[in-house]
Amino acid sequence: MYPERVFSGMRPTGSLHLGHYHGVLKNWTVLQSKYPCFFCVVDWHALTTHYETPGVIEKNVWEVFIDWLAAGIDPNQATLFIQSKVPEHSELALLIGMSTPLSWLERVPTYKEQMEKLKERDLSTYGFLGYPVLMAADILLYRAIHVPVGEDQVPHLEMTRQIARRFNRLYSSDSIVEEKSYQVAKKLGKKHARLYFALRHSYQEQGDGEALAQAHSILLESNSLSIRDREFLFSYLEVARKRILVEPKALLTSASRMPGLDGQKMSKSYGNTIGLREAKSSIVQKIRTMQTDPARVQLKDPGDPEKCKVWQLHQVYCNESTREWVKVGCKTAGIGCLDCKQPVIDGILREQQPMLERAQKYMDDPSLLRDIVDDGCEKARKSAKEVMQDVRDAMGLKYS
Ligand code: ATP
Ligand code: MG
Repeated sequence: MYPERVFSGMRPTGSLHLGHYHGVLKNWTVLQSKYPCFFCVVDWHALTTHYETPGVIEKNVWEVFIDWLAAGIDPNQATLFIQSKVPEHSELALLIGMSTPLSWLERVPTYKEQMEKLKERDLSTYGFLGYPVLMAADILLYRAIHVPVGEDQVPHLEMTRQIARRFNRLYSSDSIVEEKSYQVAKKLGKKHARLYFALRHSYQEQGDGEALAQAHSILLESNSLSIRDREFLFSYLEVARKRILVEPKALLTSASRMPGLDGQKMSKSYGNTIGLREAKSSIVQKIRTMQTDPARVQLKDPGDPEKCKVWQLHQVYCNESTREWVKVGCKTAGIGCLDCKQPVIDGILREQQPMLERAQKYMDDPSLLRDIVDDGCEKARKSAKEVMQDVRDAMGLKYS
């Protein structure tokens, strides 16, 4: 079987923030010592929204790598690389795109949502609609099983699984057995044979147990099959195939939707972020001016943590006893909002200190970073080439 690999990517559209750290990067730092990990800066994905301003991408690529290393990603364990340096990503995207129904893409929740949200950009493009196909190719190209991402990516992962299942059904089967199945199924009569294959399809692509049961009853009720034919068709429903592509699963952290300064999901496009390497004075200022429970106009007014945006950050940065202190202090007006914010500020700055130190090394000597990434791109290309060879062979694009 294939090795248990991890793949994840980030778009170089700016420096990273605490949402990226708690939502995803923390998971990466744990996974890197357990599995072979492929971490990719997906520059082509950045172009889906920034095709008019590609000039910002290169600078951001290096910033993102530094952020990763700052967060504790170890280049001796994980493979760090740039998507466009491994052209196989685009080849696989093109090939799986051939069999991906348009309706799957149109119903992805982020598709309409992002179009609404990013009104200042014209996103009615082929590239933007196809984003999930490219993302599926990124993951499938490494036969990754685990994909540590934020909650917003879960629908993309589900589509990646569907794309893999469809690909395997179309191209991974053994053609002799397949031909035999058509010959034997014919004996069921045209209508039932068609139904048999449709039910098998539903079972194999969607894991539909009812479809399997219905196919069983068609076989049991048929008078025209010999015992051997029936047995063959029974087992063909379940035929274990050599999977060319592997179905991945999303891995989420407990902060898979890390809130920002305004309580919405932390995101650059909402302007509610705290950067991973942001200046201390700016972090302090941002937290100190965060909105709290509007009922607390004055110090003597009691409040309710559930109505306070800072409370969500306490969930990430503070331990149980501090949270208890906040709850009691807020409800009894025993502490002020600035007192309450201090442990969050302290928590963020404490977490940030080692990151700043790690980042400095690469800022002082950028060639260190170039070497890591050159090395990573080469490793990724080697892996990608192997899988693409299998994909081309399976699709009959061999020409040798
Ligand atoms: P932004 O929304 O700030 O522009 P992004 O979503 O464009 O960032 P991506 O490269 O698309 O950045 O996302 C990188 C990864 O970080 C994805 O797995 C995404 O789910 C995750 N992520 C981004 N923001 C958050 C957040 N606030 N909480 C949890 N995970 C997040
Ligand atoms: Mg995103």
